[in-house]
Amino acid sequence: MSKKRKPYFNNNVVNPIHTSATYFFEDTEQVIRYHDKKEEVGRYGRYDNPNWLEVEEKLATLDLCEDALVFPSGMSAIATTLMSLSENGKKIIYTGKGYRNIRNLCGNILAKFGIETISLSPANAKQFIIEFKKHYDANTSVVFLEIPSNPHLHLVDVEEVKKIIKDDTILIIDSTFSSPINFLPIRWGADLVIHSCGKYIGGHADIMAGSVAGKKDIIEKIRNYRNVLGNIVDSHTAFMLNRSIATLKMRIEYLNQAGLKLATFLESHPKVKKVFYSGLASYSNRDLAKKYLSGHGGVVTFELNLSKKATTNFVDALKIPYMGTNFGSCHSMVEQCSIFTYYKEPQEVRNDLGISDTLIRYSIGFDNIDDIINDINEALEKA
Ligand SMILES: *Cc1c(COP(=O)(O)O)cnc(C)c1O
Repeated sequence: MSKKRKPYFNNNVVNPIHTSATYFFEDTEQVIRYHDKKEEVGRYGRYDNPNWLEVEEKLATLDLCEDALVFPSGMSAIATTLMSLSENGKKIIYTGKGYRNIRNLCGNILAKFGIETISLSPANAKQFIIEFKKHYDANTSVVFLEIPSNPHLHLVDVEEVKKIIKDDTILIIDSTFSSPINFLPIRWGADLVIHSCGKYIGGHADIMAGSVAGKKDIIEKIRNYRNVLGNIVDSHTAFMLNRSIATLKMRIEYLNQAGLKLATFLESHPKVKKVFYSGLASYSNRDLAKKYLSGHGGVVTFELNLSKKATTNFVDALKIPYMGTNFGSCHSMVEQCSIFTYYKEPQEVRNDLGISDTLIRYSIGFDNIDDIINDINEALEKA
């Protein structure tokens, strides 16, 4: 039997799942063409896979970038990116009051390697710029901003940050909370855009993945780290992510409408103390929200005018959402933040992060929005 495999069909509408761990070359000349990047063929499963290439091209297009890489999780994308762009003695400035494990990565892990990491709060947008000016210097290799922040949807004025930083400082924006449909950081001068693709982009709570997109030369640097660290997605996950991208725009457009409807309802309810939703007129940084975001998504965070216990009663009385800690999927999810994600954080840390006892994060899924509102209304009556 010949070593060379027939291609069978090459006219699939859907690219099949490629599980080959390695690839063969026709002859030595082709090997050399591969090395010189004159021919795109596979070499080895840790470096190349057709399912990654397909989804990476789409991820790059979504973020208006030249190139993109896919990772097995958002944290994996963030860790690999920060490792490849920082070094001993250099500084990273990041938004500290957002996704918990970014604080962990910067404050506990990268700091161990002699990288100075400065955490700034995005809770007050004006104060953020003042603090940023104090800490930024020529030694800062990376600025990492989570926009909007998880779970409060705080925003940073990217344009102001961009005016302060020098050309060789890499500006990274984690825009998981907005998705590329609602926010395009590259338009505002970001060098790299990161997503946890298990949230809005994946959209079905059935995969873990992450992405980083940007200019070819920076992406190449990060790719070299991924090649060595070996944190690659399996082809099935890449296939699922690729399939999800086909419906992303429609899903987000629906969630933008549903999110605004829920936020507006909650704001009018006497048992609700405060709603954190960037689409509301009452939102603290309405000017920034209007400038940067074209929609506000399906996550509504709010505080109740109740005790901690009554808040728990409310969450337990909800019939529609799963109690859990994902967002952006077809399943509605709810968590009382202080008892779920932030349970192990000491009270003073929770106070500092703005995680009050009655703070709730509600992520809308594809349940009927009027049913969701009725369910919340009934649970509030019982609480
Ligand atoms: C979930 C999340 C991450 C981490 O992504 P994983 O895929 O869970 O590793 C990073 N940033 C933000 C804003 C997130 O919401």
